[in-house]
Amino acid sequence: MKLLLASGSVHKVAELRRILDRQAVLVEVVGLGDIDPYPEPVENGATFEDNALIKARAGFAMSGLPTLADDSGIEVDVLNGMPGVRSARWAGTHAADGDNLSLLMRQIDDVEPERRTARFVCAMALLWPGGQTVLRGVVEGRLTTDLRGEHGFGYDPVFLPDGYDRTTAQMSDEEKDAISHRGRALRAMIPHIEDLAWTFPSEA
Ligand code: IMP
Repeated sequence: MKLLLASGSVHKVAELRRILDRQAVLVEVVGLGDIDPYPEPVENGATFEDNALIKARAGFAMSGLPTLADDSGIEVDVLNGMPGVRSARWAGTHAADGDNLSLLMRQIDDVEPERRTARFVCAMALLWPGGQTVLRGVVEGRLTTDLRGEHGFGYDPVFLPDGYDRTTAQMSDEEKDAISHRGRALRAMIPHIEDLAWTFPSEA
């Protein structure tokens, strides 16, 4: 079966292939770079789940393929759960990861370590002819005051998952996949992808 990951991020497409390969799920993952381009839908949902569905619906409408889409971000408790769905645009519509991170650090620079709790959240939506499912993966942790590590992206250099003394930017891809919000959501989605591969083998 061909499965579209409605994401232009080569990093996310590689991550999905890596996780499905490791679980021996035999589907061919294509990304937005592999199909005819279409205008990105407006991600104006109030929740991660809404935005994941918006992206999956657009990808499915354009490709006709079973489509997976994710939406993710970081929720910071002292900011009442923000940046949340605005994580990618926290410092402005076209803000770079570094700008979003610096703004967040400045906003909480006086917050003591025990109150710097946060979580990465990922909603994953799977849409196919006649059905859909949405689920979520979460990793709890807290934010450091300094930047640590060179791996990952976004808020990784300041995110210490619970039970670890290294940030997710100090972890290898494999280590992060094992505990990350997206890794958890993807693994929870695997049985649904496997069911689909049985239902739509003709897409192969
Ligand atoms: P999106 O799901 O690609 O829209 O990502 C939303 C934003 O959340 C990204 O731009 C990052 O700033 C942040 N984010 C999501 N997942 C991660 C992660 O695994 N590490 C660091 N930042 C993340």
